[in-house]
Amino acid sequence: MSRVAYVNGLYVVHADAGVHVEDRGYQFGDGVYEVCEVRAGRMVDERRHMERLVRSLRELRIRLPMPLHALGVVLRETVRRNRVRDGFVYLQVTRGVARRDHYFPVPEVPPSVVVTARRVDAAKNEALAIEGVAVITVPENRWDRVDIKTVGLLPNVLAKQAAREAGAREAWFVDADGHVTEGGSTNAWIVTQDGVLRTRPAEHGILRGITRTVMFEVAEQLQLRIEERAFTVAEALAAREAFLSSATTIAMPVVRIDGQPIGGGSPGPVVRKLRELFHSVAEIAR
Ligand code: PLP
Repeated sequence: MSRVAYVNGLYVVHADAGVHVEDRGYQFGDGVYEVCEVRAGRMVDERRHMERLVRSLRELRIRLPMPLHALGVVLRETVRRNRVRDGFVYLQVTRGVARRDHYFPVPEVPPSVVVTARRVDAAKNEALAIEGVAVITVPENRWDRVDIKTVGLLPNVLAKQAAREAGAREAWFVDADGHVTEGGSTNAWIVTQDGVLRTRPAEHGILRGITRTVMFEVAEQLQLRIEERAFTVAEALAAREAFLSSATTIAMPVVRIDGQPIGGGSPGPVVRKLRELFHSVAEIAR
């Protein structure tokens, strides 16, 4: 069975799917995206992902390409046509196609919409969570509006590639004050020696991860204390546990930072419990 992509109103063979060379996403990174987990064929936290999409579009003054319920139909249909049981669905909306010019197109052009879906090996992810992953740290060099989920991800690409080349899974950006902001595609957390869950506030400097938001509810159920306060690399190294979160990783233990072990170098009980409970708290539509 070949994969299928949705491109501007049509479901096409993935290998042949394409957008115009003057799509503003392609030329300027002028677009936004969402990645939603698919579990047992159903989308996880669709409502929250759509809310964030609407916010990202509003911040960039790109109009919503179609009503949200229609977008939901496209997402589900793409999942169905690709027979994804466990995996994720990717949605990208750009300002559309226009003659290359930095200014917004006048008259306005329709936004471009692309949706793809992909399977993941759930067993492999679970195995990774049992082992934990390594991260490296890199200087924060992204723009000021990382709260918008834009497709302009070059610093993230370079940071994650550096991580891979160093034998790590993720790169944590560290700001000028020495505080960890977030990972290249994940939010960053520690569990302090007092058992407090700590993550940076989402008002500035990070993307407000949907998984991060849900994790607050999971933590509440586990009666864990949460503190929204940035931490330094030294504080992370002194922590009991560390982990990262995203729709594709859920809570993933971090066992090494820049080659130094955290919590004895193996995953701890808090991240394991957060991971176990996550999907009973997340919204999963019927
Ligand atoms: N931070 C960044 C930079 C990301 O790219 C992502 C996800 O792609 C996240 C955090 C986690 O967000 P979510 O939990 O919504 O997947």
